[in-house]
Amino acid sequence: MQVDLDPRGRKVVIFGDAGGTRQIVRRFLAAGATVTLALDGPAPDPEHRVDTVRYAHQPAADDTAGLLRLIGPAWLVAEVGLAPALSHRIGELAGHLHLLIIREPPAPERGQVILVGGGPGRTSLLTVEAVEALRRADAVFFDRLAPTDELRRLAPAATLHDVGKSPYHHPVGQASIEELMIAAARRGQSVVRLKGGDPFVFGRGGEELQACTAAGVPVRVIPGISSALSVPGAHGIPVTHRGISRAFTVISGHTPLEVDELEGLVRLGGTIVILMGIANLAQIVAGLCRAGLAPGTPAAVIERGFSASERRTFATLGELPARVRQLEISSPAVVVIGEVVTVAPAFLETAVSFAAAS
Ligand code: SAH
Repeated sequence: MQVDLDPRGRKVVIFGDAGGTRQIVRRFLAAGATVTLALDGPAPDPEHRVDTVRYAHQPAADDTAGLLRLIGPAWLVAEVGLAPALSHRIGELAGHLHLLIIREPPAPERGQVILVGGGPGRTSLLTVEAVEALRRADAVFFDRLAPTDELRRLAPAATLHDVGKSPYHHPVGQASIEELMIAAARRGQSVVRLKGGDPFVFGRGGEELQACTAAGVPVRVIPGISSALSVPGAHGIPVTHRGISRAFTVISGHTPLEVDELEGLVRLGGTIVILMGIANLAQIVAGLCRAGLAPGTPAAVIERGFSASERRTFATLGELPARVRQLEISSPAVVVIGEVVTVAPAFLETAVSFAAAS
């Protein structure tokens, strides 16, 4: 069961040590609570203190008067990694006082980087693990195509760094992104690198993994739902379909394909999915046709999948470049080429109107 509480203006007393409670403290402050931190151990140095937090000494489990003084005025008590005796006593006292109490594990002690696939842009298509990693992040470095609409809410304890790239504009270079993430992890932060789709599909996730490993920074990967499959899929275009296609190839259209690559693709058959393909589409289509792919092969382009301004266009392969120009189709878009396009429920209707127009 999940209960949503609004802690705005409420007194919250948090028990734990400075490192382990750092994220829950930031979350409650961000939500507008008045926070008292009952520290196990010394108060942090003045430069590491948060102005708006009241620091208190954590009473021992048998110091009932001290505990009551602390939690008596509270609306909610949060425990972070407490010893069982103290946790038990706080539970008893909070029960008598009818206080809300929550328990959570300490924030990660060691710095780390988590490469997180954010899916194709819709918050609800983040994985449960991605949401959990964001909730427990100290810093988030995010890309342009990552789901960012609700990032503040999803990562309330984190500083957010926009390192997004658009096709011809790289505000923060790849090497700098890697350096920044590694430096943050070395300062003990839990760093989320949030990318669109899956981090390892044209996402430079492999390079970031290698950079972290080379720097001795612990790194792990949370895969994401790639746009290559999910954007066509949401329109009823399956990349494989019994009797129609038993293979799919995902290619980048960012740099021109070699003749033998194009010939290989056509020989293999199956479905071709192109990412980053709009700028060079005319060239790619001409190449595929020269390599033997029939100009009548069905194709679809889906722009800005999963957004309010999403648009889907069907055409034959031969007609595709003209359609892209005519309709001013723009990036980000997924192009699908192959008979599987005919499986989409909307295809039949469109194909009929094509026939009527020609
Ligand atoms: N790692 C990403 C792909 C990064 S390359 C993934 O797995 O999805 C960026 C390209 O992905 C874009 O140029 C576009 O071709 C495609 N793309 C990503 N998100 C998209 C979306 N919501 N709608 C359409 N295309 C998208």
